[in-house]
Amino acid sequence: MSTVYNWQLGREMEYPYDATYPNEQFAFVFNINRCIACQTCTMACKSTWTFSKGQEYMWWNNVETKPYGGYPHHWDVKLLDLLEKANPEGQIWNDQPLEKRAPYGRFGGKTVFDAAQQNLAPEGAQAALGYLPTDEEWSGPNKFEDNPLSEIKGKRGQFFPGGEQLPNHKTWFFYLQRLCNHCTYPACLAACPRKAIYKRREDGIVLIDQERCRGYRKCVEACPYKKPMYRGATRTSEKCIGCYPRIEGREPDTGGVPTQTRCMAGCIGQIRLQGLIELNPDGVWKENRANPLYYLVHVAKVALPLYPQFGTSPNGYYIPPRWVPRPYLRQMFGPGVDAAIERYTVPDRELLAVLQLFGKDERICARYEIQKGPKVFETTVRGKPFELYNDTIIGYSRKGQEIVRVTVEEPVHIRPDQHANSI
Ligand code: SF4
Ligand code: SF4
Ligand code: SF4
Repeated sequence: MSTVYNWQLGREMEYPYDATYPNEQFAFVFNINRCIACQTCTMACKSTWTFSKGQEYMWWNNVETKPYGGYPHHWDVKLLDLLEKANPEGQIWNDQPLEKRAPYGRFGGKTVFDAAQQNLAPEGAQAALGYLPTDEEWSGPNKFEDNPLSEIKGKRGQFFPGGEQLPNHKTWFFYLQRLCNHCTYPACLAACPRKAIYKRREDGIVLIDQERCRGYRKCVEACPYKKPMYRGATRTSEKCIGCYPRIEGREPDTGGVPTQTRCMAGCIGQIRLQGLIELNPDGVWKENRANPLYYLVHVAKVALPLYPQFGTSPNGYYIPPRWVPRPYLRQMFGPGVDAAIERYTVPDRELLAVLQLFGKDERICARYEIQKGPKVFETTVRGKPFELYNDTIIGYSRKGQEIVRVTVEEPVHIRPDQHANSI
């Protein structure tokens, strides 16, 4: 048991294991606004790591359609419900002044670790509040794809004919891209009775040792994001391995430079930016304004953790979708949602430039610089002045080599008349 400071919650919390922090932490930012649900990321992972016997329903990366979709089905609704039952009407954020160590305020409710401790007898003690999904919930990884309709209760496969009207908004949906968050306080790791799960000191990637695992599925039960998956053919649990050979710079032809994972590098919508973050001894991000992930999460504050209230301190961050009702988003990403959407909708000069880095090169960008360019456009967005400058952003690898150079205004290529139709 450790008492740790969880900066995403703005408070200390109990973690039922020895907390250790890596030198650098695997982290990523997804821009939900740009995802087209092409599932290229999903298939990039599947074709690399989970195409073998017993892995048929194993989707380490998945993209689900919210609000109804989820893999396993309804994973987040079930978890939120369990937490609500453990702490009725108490799962709220306190209205605290924001500060550097608590950028989203202070969470006053219970984490999955707090909730597990509160009412269990010692013999039944578990590391984290959770549940084991049924086999049926692991089937159909993309149920409700592109579909804002809901199934009629008790009538399988029959849907309401019209758009669902929740009390305070019209029909909507959005895509949520998911993989293991390689959490700072992994519930899967704390729950494993075999100590088969470990967090790598060099990059914080969380792995299951296949030699030690006996398939008890305690990790599956404890992970609030339901990202460890059981493989019947080997009777072990498996999970996303953060494509660690690529993070180690072992991809051929990259000269030893760390490379973004398969699901990140393959993203058609260029919504993904993955990197490595240096940590302070207490697990809080070391200040490094020139790192694009640090800038997006801690300076611009446009990217927010997924369900921070679960308490595992996930290292996946999301730029929330602009069109979705705010109460839903606040539940999913915490109280930073409104400010994040405001900044993303009317981005300043630096944010516009940093957003250009997404999906431009598979090598990991450790540092960026911006060269100022001319003003090319100005307007008013939601009553606020907006100016577009054609700045150039340059990204460098950790070895200091230039890996990307891109302007804010993307070049336009017009196909010559003789090639009007390429098909
Ligand atoms: S590849 Fe990118 S755009 Fe396509 S589904 Fe995955 S995250 Fe979305
Ligand atoms: S997302 Fe789940 S499986 Fe991944 S590190 Fe966190 S608790 Fe473990
Ligand atoms: S990081 Fe690698 S192993 Fe993990 S989901 Fe992405 S492609 Fe799969």
